[in-house]
Amino acid sequence: MLPHRWLAWHSLLACVLRKKALVAKYKDIVHESDRLCLGNSLLCDINSRKIYVLLHERKYGNSVCVPRISKHLEDLGETVDWSLYYSMLKSIVDTKTREFKFKFLHDIHVNNYWLSKWGIKDTDICTLCNETRDDISHMFWECQSIQKFLKEFAGFLRTNFDYVLAKEDFFLGNRNVLIFQVILICKKLIYQCNYKKESVTMIRFISSVKLCKNIEYQVAKNNNKVTKYLEKWEVLLDL
Ligand SMILES: [Zn+2]
Repeated sequence: MLPHRWLAWHSLLACVLRKKALVAKYKDIVHESDRLCLGNSLLCDINSRKIYVLLHERKYGNSVCVPRISKHLEDLGETVDWSLYYSMLKSIVDTKTREFKFKFLHDIHVNNYWLSKWGIKDTDICTLCNETRDDISHMFWECQSIQKFLKEFAGFLRTNFDYVLAKEDFFLGNRNVLIFQVILICKKLIYQCNYKKESVTMIRFISSVKLCKNIEYQVAKNNNKVTKYLEKWEVLLDL
C-alpha cells in the first residue's frame, strides 16, 4: 500500500470497527515480526482472504465440518482428513460441477428419500428398481439399474489408470486429478439420467468425458495453459 493510501486504509478500519463482532485487528492478521509501519510495501499482504479466514476461525474455530455423506460410508475410520476433500473442490474449474460435488458431499441432491421426507412424494422407494429406499447411496452405487454401467465404468478405470474403483473414492474423490474428474463426470451422468429416467450407458459417459475434455482444451488454449492441459489429460488424449 502506498503511503498516500494510508488514510483510505484507516477509514476502512474505522468503518469495520463499528461492527465490533467483526473486528479483525491488524495484530491478529499480521505476525508481530512482519508488522510494518506506514508506507511499507508488505502492508499489501493484508487482503480480504486473510481477514475472512481470521473472522471465520474466530467464529467457528479450526474444526472442519464432517460432510453428511460420511454416514453412507462404513470403515472410514476417525483419521479422515476432511479438509483434503474440501480443498479438492478448488481443483474443479467448472462452477456447476463444483456445486454438484459440494451438494454430493453434503447429501443434498434430490432423491425419493428427501422428497418423501419433505412431503412431496408418498414413497421413498426407488422408481427405477422398485426395490428399496432411494437415498444417495442407493442412487449412485447400489441400484440394480446402474450395476451394469458401474461394472463397465470400473473396467474403464482399470484399463486406463490401472486403478480399482472403491465406494469410498467414488463418493469422496481421488488424489489423482483426472480420476477425480472422471468419477465426477460419471456421478453427474448418473444423476442426470436418473432425473430424465434414461439409462446410463458407456456411450453417454464417453461423450460426456469428450465434452469436458474439449471445454477444458478451449479454456487452456485461451489462457495459454495447453501444456498443463496435456499433462492432465495425457492418459485419455486418444479417447
Ligand atoms: Zn433403485
